[in-house]
Amino acid sequence: MVEQKEQLYEGKAKKVFATSDPDLVIVDYKDDATAFNGLKKGTIVGKGVVNNKMSNYLMGLLAKEGIESHFVEELDDRRTLVKHVEIVPLEVIMRNVVAGSLSKRTGLPEGTLPSMPVLELYYKSDELGDPMINADHALAFGWATAEELKTIETMARKINDVLKNFFAGVGIDLVDFKIEFGRYKGKIILADEISPDTCRFWDSKTKEKLDKDRFRRDMGGVEGAYHEMMRRIGLKE
Ligand code: UDP
Repeated sequence: MVEQKEQLYEGKAKKVFATSDPDLVIVDYKDDATAFNGLKKGTIVGKGVVNNKMSNYLMGLLAKEGIESHFVEELDDRRTLVKHVEIVPLEVIMRNVVAGSLSKRTGLPEGTLPSMPVLELYYKSDELGDPMINADHALAFGWATAEELKTIETMARKINDVLKNFFAGVGIDLVDFKIEFGRYKGKIILADEISPDTCRFWDSKTKEKLDKDRFRRDMGGVEGAYHEMMRRIGLKE
């Protein structure tokens, strides 16, 4: 049994605690929500439970498809034991449908279908507001090695294929999502979370938004959308 020790870090949506095993940490999901690089703040009641359980479920699904992640064991509604990784300072975004910042940047309307999934890299920096970068920047400034970038790209595309198919089966369009990777014992593994905070989910038929965009855009029905996503996946809260 690993024991929870001191808090190592508190982020916008999660706290991280050390454990009696230096290779493992505990993630504790909060209901706090932020958007626009922390400018908009609020609470989404029950979000921590949804994100914890959904992320763990999806990482389990990905494990069956050969994608290694930091997931070790769900401890309770909000807490999960994970591998203690060194986070690669890149946010990887995969897009199947144009939305959000891509729509603003290109002028293409939300809902436009690209002819192939689009992978984007952002440099993880709160002070800079996570600027978009390319692979050359990541290499030239030492944020990842060439081998790591290759692994990250291959894994990100596979993760997209698996998740897109899974969500299509429950009547959801996986529009886009953000993932992060970590270094663990010399390997690159999937880390952080996959949840309605980090994905865009649209109902396949009605195109209703079932994710954090309801909070970002003050659309109302935020909690309902998170619960609906749990119901679609078949998860109990
Ligand atoms: N995303 C995220 N964290 C970020 C930025 C984006 O989880 O710091 C997710 C977001 O929820 C969406 C996808 O990545 O599913 C693409 O986001 P986009 O670049 O369109 O930015 P946004 O419009 O959310 O600012």
